[in-house]
Amino acid sequence: MSDRLDDGRPHGFSTRQLHAGTVSGTAPHARALPIYASAGFTFADFDEAEQRFGPDDGGYSYSRVGNPTVDAVERRLTALEGGTAAILLGSGQAAVSVALLALLETGDHLVTSPSIYEGSRGLFTDNFSRLGITTDEVGDPLDRASWQDALRPNTRAIFVESIPNPRNDLTDLALVADVAHAHGIPLVVDNTFATPYLLRPIEHGADIVVHSASKFLAGHGTVLGGVIVDGGSFDWQARGDRYQHLTGPNAGLRGLSYVEHAGRAAYAAYARQVVALRFGPTPSPFNAFLINQGIETLSLRVQRQSENALGLATWLRRRPEVESVDYSGLTDSPYRGLADRYLPRGQGAVFSFTLRGGRRSARTVIDAVGLFTRMTNLGDVRSLILHPASTTHATRSPAQLAASGIGEGLLRVSVGIEDIDDLTRDLEQAFAALERVVEEPPASEALTLVQDGVAA
Ligand SMILES: *Cc1c(COP(=O)(O)O)cnc(C)c1O
Repeated sequence: MSDRLDDGRPHGFSTRQLHAGTVSGTAPHARALPIYASAGFTFADFDEAEQRFGPDDGGYSYSRVGNPTVDAVERRLTALEGGTAAILLGSGQAAVSVALLALLETGDHLVTSPSIYEGSRGLFTDNFSRLGITTDEVGDPLDRASWQDALRPNTRAIFVESIPNPRNDLTDLALVADVAHAHGIPLVVDNTFATPYLLRPIEHGADIVVHSASKFLAGHGTVLGGVIVDGGSFDWQARGDRYQHLTGPNAGLRGLSYVEHAGRAAYAAYARQVVALRFGPTPSPFNAFLINQGIETLSLRVQRQSENALGLATWLRRRPEVESVDYSGLTDSPYRGLADRYLPRGQGAVFSFTLRGGRRSARTVIDAVGLFTRMTNLGDVRSLILHPASTTHATRSPAQLAASGIGEGLLRVSVGIEDIDDLTRDLEQAFAALERVVEEPPASEALTLVQDGVAA
């Protein structure tokens, strides 16, 4: 817009501070992804404005509906996961919430694995339960009959993680997809820890994939984000009236159904236009930019992080201070067979190991590390360490912790891209502190030993 009206009279100061110098709708040919920090987008005329409010015409109107920076990241993630459409959201929790609220309603039932992120678990038990959506965990995630037994006539989805943390107890995705499809329901997979570089769940039968983009996709510990990818393969129509919100007429679509409107991307269209749009966990275009920047080096980082993790796990396995190491890349891991099948390129950066001596040893090592950062969050390029029993899993009872194999001596690491020798050197000096503690028992030892006894 120019700073003069057509009649040649100059604009006033207030008008100039708003309009001078800017030209809306121009496209200089930037090579890097531009950040469209714009809440709204202009309509060329009356007709275009009307068109934008019709059933999704692909144009931009308001950033909660669509934003060019966000869209670019969505298209990239669709391509990387091999889906038909993707939705970028403000966090991984938003992605899990929106993904499942686009499938489930009051009276529905969800089946999940006992090994899932604590935030997702809380969402199901505390939040979904208040909406009348019930959740059951399977007894043994590796057993087909266990999944089949958990299904009910009102089960409308199965939710699993491809690589659960902290224990690396991998999911047999094809087996679970098989059970879900035999029952006529979709499989939703949280693929945060594998990333599409190591594993693409859609290729193994998953129907919907979610991520916390805050972890490996963004990769630098700078930003939160989440993503839903629609595989586009699930036949909603074939399930009769089970998913009526997708197959029945919709007023917003002038009487069409989402399946008629969006075909194979019906689920993604509904999740975007009805669930995400209304609940409103919209990502910022600045965050979308940072996630995109991270994605551009995803394979390099994850490759290096997997190599470092395997190197560190192998080193830990030989240490006398360490009782066990849960990394599916180790030859003696019970999950090695599944790792060979699902994660041939690398087994990821997150794993846990259990120190001899319970919580007391864990405390000593956590307090003695120098290069490792004491931190929750995962997938950072820097190496991080955490004691789950006193932090992420602190609200679980000792019995629940024991059932999920999370002992008082268990530490979780997310391995970064540092030089592996520096990582082992840091843990070596932290382990040396264990010997010093044995020589000089702290005053609180009696209490610590009681806690260890309770948890055992
Ligand atoms: C972190 C995480 C989430 C939640 O993501 P946020 O971005 O923190 O909201 C969901 N699933 C898994 C597996 C995660 O690690």
